[in-house]
Amino acid sequence: AGRSGPTTAAAGASPARREREPEWPAWQTAASAPADPSADPEPFADPPDGSSAEPAAGSAAERWVGMPGTGGARGPDVIAFTGVGDPTAYPVAEFGRTIRQVLAREGASALSYGPDPAGDGSLRRTVTQLLASQGIGVPPESVLITSGSQQALALVCQLLVRPGDTVLVEEPTYDLALRLLRAVSAQLVGVPVDAHGMRVDVLGELLARHRPRLLYVVPNFQNPTGVTLTGARRRVLLELARTHGVPIFEDDFAGDLRYSGRATPAIKSLDDGGHVLYAGTFSKLLMPGLRVGYLVVDGPVRRRLVEAKQVTDLGTSLLLQRALDRFVTVGRYQINLRRAGRLYRERRDALRAALAEHLPDAGFVPPAGGLFGWIALPAGVRSDALLRAARDRGVDVAPGSRFFLRPSDGAGYVRLNFAVQTPERIDAGVVRLAAAVDSLRR
Ligand code: PMP
Repeated sequence: AGRSGPTTAAAGASPARREREPEWPAWQTAASAPADPSADPEPFADPPDGSSAEPAAGSAAERWVGMPGTGGARGPDVIAFTGVGDPTAYPVAEFGRTIRQVLAREGASALSYGPDPAGDGSLRRTVTQLLASQGIGVPPESVLITSGSQQALALVCQLLVRPGDTVLVEEPTYDLALRLLRAVSAQLVGVPVDAHGMRVDVLGELLARHRPRLLYVVPNFQNPTGVTLTGARRRVLLELARTHGVPIFEDDFAGDLRYSGRATPAIKSLDDGGHVLYAGTFSKLLMPGLRVGYLVVDGPVRRRLVEAKQVTDLGTSLLLQRALDRFVTVGRYQINLRRAGRLYRERRDALRAALAEHLPDAGFVPPAGGLFGWIALPAGVRSDALLRAARDRGVDVAPGSRFFLRPSDGAGYVRLNFAVQTPERIDAGVVRLAAAVDSLRR
């Protein structure tokens, strides 16, 4: 009622389903009730382990390239398989031109707060067009622009998760999601992941036993494993979440970065009842420092999320939203996406070849997209010892322990970001890693 469908018809999306207001799940209306301020907990406590981002050495550029908390050995001769995309692939000159064009056309209005804390209207329309090509048909009002997808998750936690509430996460999963969830004092329960993504065969029982407040899932090219959740499992996952009344947070941080195979429809594309909160980001394809992402959310909870966004930061930088909108609408984004896709595919293949040659007894399933390769170490080699031995030899990786609820469960794994290094340096880095592994074999 009163909501218009998407302008672009999308495969798998049915605009007709928006004609009737669905019956919203109970958690939506509960979260949308006016909050009792006295009952509100402190939203962000210190992480229980007191951990913070490790300081990194090296040049100014190296210091700031990559992810907070992934800093380890850095420097000109260190081959670091850490970070996000390759900074040399960021469209620095093109984006500079775009910003100047926006300022010339829009002047001071591009430098204001902007009229809507939910985000620039034009960028929200543009995002719906990108989403339509993924099978997600939603109107622009369903899109909330956030400061990266990390803020999307933070806002959802702030609204839905109270201290002591249980949240289900894949195990292993994205380390900074774990740290965020710990910061809001969530009780975390892991759902195991195999080569086809989250094990939905054990999910029903976990949902019944723990009655979680939220289910966090990274269905495409998961961080850290690189695995993609199959279409069949996505349907089971949504059905189970719907039955148990648990919202799904679908973190699609790199869904557009596919190198092989066909795209699997987003869980959100199957959702017709406001059960799925879908987060996307421009970080992985463009520049993480832009801090522009988005949350797709339907139902009564949306207004509360916009409110939370407003009081958190008064809105994401309007200048950057306007520039990004122009960057996408003139087609630069798509050019960059194809360019990054070619570059990173070549690097994934280089990692596969280097591992086959230099570390043949490590387990590795090449991911169909994304940034991360997940390596099962040869028997007896532990990732904490390997990290030290690797850094001594000038190579840096992320230890598997970081991605598990119980760090010791990750002792047999390391994560390599293959997107940040050239094929030559990938090969040289794997040679160094293999030497570090050999030094630990018994
Ligand atoms: N989700 C996943 C799985 C990630 O790996 C990251 C960052 N690497 C994020 C979300 C957050 O990214 P951003 O806030 O830059 O969109």
